[in-house]
Amino acid sequence: MRDRVVTGMVGQGGPAGTQPAQVAANSPLALTPLLDPSLSDLVHGQPQILQGLVERFGSPLNIVWPDLLKKNMAAMRRVQQRHGLRLDVYYACKANKSHALVRAAVETGAGVEVSSEYEMADAVRLGAAPALLCATGPAKTDRFLRRLIAAGCLISIDSAEEFSDVRTLVGEVRFERPARVLLRYRPASEAASRFGMADDDLRHCLSALTETGDSVILEGFHIHLSGYQHQSRLRAVRQLARHIEEARRMGLTPHTLNIGGGMPVRYVGNASPDALTQAGNPHQYRNGKAPADVYPYDGRVDAEGWLDLLLEAPYDGGVSVAQYLDTHDLTLAIEPGRSLADQAAMSIFRITRVKALPDRTRVLFVEGSSFSACETWFASEFMVDPILVPQRARVGAPARAWIAGHSCLDEDVITNRLVPFQVLPCADDLLVYPNTGGYQMDLLENEFHRHPMPRRIAARRVPGGDIDVWPDDGRGSSG
Ligand SMILES: *Cc1c(COP(=O)(O)O)cnc(C)c1O
Repeated sequence: MRDRVVTGMVGQGGPAGTQPAQVAANSPLALTPLLDPSLSDLVHGQPQILQGLVERFGSPLNIVWPDLLKKNMAAMRRVQQRHGLRLDVYYACKANKSHALVRAAVETGAGVEVSSEYEMADAVRLGAAPALLCATGPAKTDRFLRRLIAAGCLISIDSAEEFSDVRTLVGEVRFERPARVLLRYRPASEAASRFGMADDDLRHCLSALTETGDSVILEGFHIHLSGYQHQSRLRAVRQLARHIEEARRMGLTPHTLNIGGGMPVRYVGNASPDALTQAGNPHQYRNGKAPADVYPYDGRVDAEGWLDLLLEAPYDGGVSVAQYLDTHDLTLAIEPGRSLADQAAMSIFRITRVKALPDRTRVLFVEGSSFSACETWFASEFMVDPILVPQRARVGAPARAWIAGHSCLDEDVITNRLVPFQVLPCADDLLVYPNTGGYQMDLLENEFHRHPMPRRIAARRVPGGDIDVWPDDGRGSSG
């Protein structure tokens, strides 16, 4: 799911404690978030709407924008048309817990990538046709497998052991339909990974599949790689295509190459090499420590541009990947999670206290915790500057501050970086973190200190500039 991009280490090691003189010697580093124009209008033009929502639903508040997921899906369809591609898109719904975003994906005709029977049940309840679900994961339970086969979902088989379980199941249970499977491949470059099967296990499954008749149908091959380099996906396409050819020689009829997720997102408007080098400067951080890498904030191309790069890449002998797929009657399947949720969620925190510290830094305490804007999962740091929505217009000198959650844990820091502000924020101002739909907003949320779970609402802009909102967290009727 990630790439290791090492930041330019200026003055490697960093100071043991923050040394104000050195901090001052470094000019402020702005990492300006990219914002969809509709959200930019709202945040900058109608801040009172956001203030009203935080008053009503509390802080932190997660807002999802289903229409923006649909916009991302439309971009995928443009790629499909541009390249005359057979393209299956499965929304990897683990990227966040929103129901409204799953529903939006389903409404555009996308499938859903599910990794638990709970994700499966939600997707079906939200309107997904079972045939448009693709189940992945290395540890599917027996009950999950039964439900998947019975409903006619596509199953990505992760191991020879799982394949054997599926064979046993179709032998024992009279399903009304065949088990539809992909075989998940583990390329040699990922030899240490616990996901997927190496060549020998794949071959074993293939020869078994020649004997399963129509109780188990091979639809294709699957791969999901960490990182978001399109070059690694080009290698993946070549590898999967080789397996398709081999399976077809054996008389099987696979047609789908599922290359998984990992399409990039552009978070930062100025992610220039220079800004990223500066992001590696330990003096930009109150604790004198730059994160080891800047994933996923260094995306320079969005998912649409990324897919174009992949499809236009030479496959062989002057033939592009798109042409190769077409001449071999192959369907490309993708499972974007993060990138389909691009711009489709934001998290808003209310500032409760602005405090001056002996090291001459200032900390903004927010109502909420780093669990609600987390990069802990990626051992990185939330690299985007939050947008300040002041309670009222105010004049003052520019200032820098770092941002901490309200808990009593020393580690509960949202942003160690000294974020530049036009004017020093005050208590009751809001901080808007845009684009938190990809694993950041609710992956680790909890009720620490018995604070209630953060609310999640869905919203859409309506003509006239107002917005419609509805609950999206199972509390109250869901849209
Ligand atoms: C998590 C996951 C995805 C989604 O990855 P993103 O980086 O969010 O696009 C897709 N497929 C599989 C199998 C996954 O585990």
